[in-house]
Amino acid sequence: MDEIMDWTALEAIDQLCARVYIGLRDDRLRSDDVVELACLLLDWGRYEPAVEEVVARRPEEIGPQRLRELAEQLLEGTAFLPDFRLAPERLVLLEQALGTVAADLPPSWSGSTARLVPMSDSSPLDYKVELTGGRMHGNGLRTVDAEDLTSALIAVADHVQEGVMEFDWRVWPVCPVHHLGLHPVADGGTAVWQCRLGPHAVAAVGSLPPAARHDDGPRARGGREDRHARRGPSSGTGGQRGQSLPTPLE
Ligand SMILES: [Zn+2]
Repeated sequence: MDEIMDWTALEAIDQLCARVYIGLRDDRLRSDDVVELACLLLDWGRYEPAVEEVVARRPEEIGPQRLRELAEQLLEGTAFLPDFRLAPERLVLLEQALGTVAADLPPSWSGSTARLVPMSDSSPLDYKVELTGGRMHGNGLRTVDAEDLTSALIAVADHVQEGVMEFDWRVWPVCPVHHLGLHPVADGGTAVWQCRLGPHAVAAVGSLPPAARHDDGPRARGGREDRHARRGPSSGTGGQRGQSLPTPLE
């Protein structure tokens, strides 16, 4: 019984979080929703300052600007993550990012069609990149990866890099000067491919020079066949994001 009550309460919190999220995003936040969410969180035993402030003060006393701040803090406190049904604009950002990242693919991948597909029918939370022939797999891209275009570019570049290296078993892309693998990072609000030596930015994501895109990057340790044999057939998804790159040949 308690479990059912817990589940119902969590459902209610989740639904209110969604309403508050949409209210914040579309600039039509309803104070009733914020108050109700704070009350539910209090019932749930959450005593964060934002919860207590919303419960203790009348909305007209709080004012719209402070209410927004408190609503954001409530969402943060619940670690609320909208899915793509709730935040379709984030899928649009990921698609835009994929179009940009595709320009950096090695020549042997040119002509590939790149698209985002759901990881599974049942999960609207995760998407993955699929390239022609289903050559790409990888871990899911989530709404949290697309808070803005820069974060979307970094997440998609990381995702595509993992898939290309997994398939080709070569380091890609490669710094033309130091012959080390590059990594997508944010540099002053721009997504760039960065070389660890220095470190220095080689190019903006989507603008790699041909020397960095090429197909004869250093072969990663182990070799592709090795890697696939070790990996086994069932572990194509579900690995960890953000793994360090295999080390290029010394
Ligand atoms: Zn370098």
